[in-house]
Amino acid sequence: MSLKEKTSFRCGHCGKDFEAEIWSSVNSEINPEMRDSVRSLDVFKVKCPHCGDTELVERPFVYNEMQKGFMIQLIPNGSEAEVKQMLNFFSGKGGEGSDVLATLLRRTSDLQIRLVTTIPRFKEKIAILDEQMDDRLVEIAKVLCKTIASKGEDVDAYFFRNPEIDKLCIGFYSPKNQDSFYMELNPEIYDLMKQSYSADIEKLSEPTIVVDEKWARQFIAEHPKE
Ligand SMILES: [Zn+2]
Repeated sequence: MSLKEKTSFRCGHCGKDFEAEIWSSVNSEINPEMRDSVRSLDVFKVKCPHCGDTELVERPFVYNEMQKGFMIQLIPNGSEAEVKQMLNFFSGKGGEGSDVLATLLRRTSDLQIRLVTTIPRFKEKIAILDEQMDDRLVEIAKVLCKTIASKGEDVDAYFFRNPEIDKLCIGFYSPKNQDSFYMELNPEIYDLMKQSYSADIEKLSEPTIVVDEKWARQFIAEHPKE
């Protein structure tokens, strides 16, 4: 399902109010023309009719790429309660339709749902999807790369394809120093993660809805390798 909603906005530039339609859900099969707009994040932008200023609007959004069996739910600035409610829904404890979906998710690995709470993390999931990689293995690889690259600094790590060198990379951003750097994600590292952890991932009994650094660290700890 693809959905557009008419919503009221106040322009952050000129301060005037206006109404605009914004997508709350895009299914790439129904609206293939929206694929690029999701990737460029234009889907989140509204233009003020008074001054022409364009703003990125952080609102809940669902992206469905059914042909790849992947759905990404964005709850930006989501409160813990909202995120918990969504997780309950995907695990079968969330009312109508929830149990059916949860059973389906447990039975098949052909449908994957991910929950993210920021637009950059949303963009990262799309980048991984487009490379036809498994985001769980990418998160595990990121933990390893972070250990090598960050020198103990507290940095945020993001997967992306670097258009300048046309290579897969892990970008690091230090909120404290406000600087960023990147390292290449050697495909061999990813393959090694695949060899080491794929079987363990297949054995998981519950669907993995939130796949982030915290998830990866816990997974690594629970599946020690020699
Ligand atoms: Zn304006």
